[in-house]
Amino acid sequence: SPAFYDIRAAVTREQSAPFVIEDARIRAPKNDEVLVKILATGMCHTDMIVRDQYYPVPLPAVLGHEGAGIVEAVGPQVQGLSVGDHVVLTYGYCSHCHQCSDGHAAYCDEFYPRNFQGSDVNGETALQDANGKPLHDHFFAQSSFASYALSLESNAVKVPADAPLELLGPLGCGIQTGAGAVINSLKVTPGSSFVSFGAGAVGLSAVLAARVAGATTIIAVDVVPSRLELALELGATHVINSLEEDAVARIKEITHGGTKFALESTGRPQVLRQGIDSLGLLGAIGVVGAPKLGTDASFDVNDVLLGGKTIRGIVEGDSNPKQFIPMLVELYQQGRFPFDKLVKFYDFEQINQAAADSEKGITLKPIVRIA
Ligand code: NAD
Ligand code: ZN
Repeated sequence: SPAFYDIRAAVTREQSAPFVIEDARIRAPKNDEVLVKILATGMCHTDMIVRDQYYPVPLPAVLGHEGAGIVEAVGPQVQGLSVGDHVVLTYGYCSHCHQCSDGHAAYCDEFYPRNFQGSDVNGETALQDANGKPLHDHFFAQSSFASYALSLESNAVKVPADAPLELLGPLGCGIQTGAGAVINSLKVTPGSSFVSFGAGAVGLSAVLAARVAGATTIIAVDVVPSRLELALELGATHVINSLEEDAVARIKEITHGGTKFALESTGRPQVLRQGIDSLGLLGAIGVVGAPKLGTDASFDVNDVLLGGKTIRGIVEGDSNPKQFIPMLVELYQQGRFPFDKLVKFYDFEQINQAAADSEKGITLKPIVRIA
């Protein structure tokens, strides 16, 4: 097999610059690495905030972290994957720190370097541009806005060959985040109430999962009417446009005093405040929306104290991806987790249109077709 593969990659050269599709090269897999021929990659809001440098991933870089494709080549230490396997790429983790050993890989000691450092853990990149200059890569241990991507065996999740592979990439991040927050972290219970602050890709995945979990009051809060309409179609029992209504008062009315569970996915501190205020006694809110580093939010200390309220941060739905992603595929195949209703496909050349449509609220979850 060749030492390098010629690829096409969408490169982010400067802060907030459009993605530019360039010719590039990627090296062959070593050790426990897997080279994946990318079929399609979902676009998540996190790609945009990194393009805009809320998180300082070094540039120029190849982003993309919801890749789905077919194993093209494997390193000599790979044991559980073979050429031709269908895989969804998820976040990177070390597999041996305390949290990884304990089944909480999303809180890996090395989460930041393995996902946001712009290189492998040794500081080396696998990508070069057409002039032979290194491109920062290993974004979420994949950099999958490209025709080929290198991951590790640990973050390449095998999925059944009879599932629609081009649809599955978003299970690696945005969908897993919303669904896992509900199922793994908040542990939403049958008959309970759940409020999703934000009806974007993450928030609506949470709505779908709340239905799977058996919540009987499911409220979506957003400011975009089309998203609220879709929330109703996906199983929300109530929707609130928080530009038109006082969301906290309305939630307290619907839930007779406050919700048991909530999730904040807008990344706005004032919305997090609304979420905390709308919890009932012993209620819990998960925080997944990501503002700029250093952002503060406020809450009423006595309200949290006397209410026994829980506020908890959640990374990637606290999922064990090798178990959770195949479970979501199975639920999808049974018609119980119809996340395809969130998706719109774009050609690779339309990647900037995909980003713009997502930011304008026109498209919930763009998937860029690459192969
Ligand atoms: P998105 O843009 O599709 O969703 C955000 C939603 O918030 C939109 O529907 C928007 O209309 C809504 N919104 C904006 N202002 C609002 C307001 N004042 N009140 C109510 N709703 C409002 O983004 P997404 O892809 O769903 O991602 C959501 C967030 O989660 C992002 O910040 C992303 O970076 C983050 N994220 C975190 C993790 C994690 O592991 N914690 C993983 C994936 C994504
Ligand atoms: Zn993401």
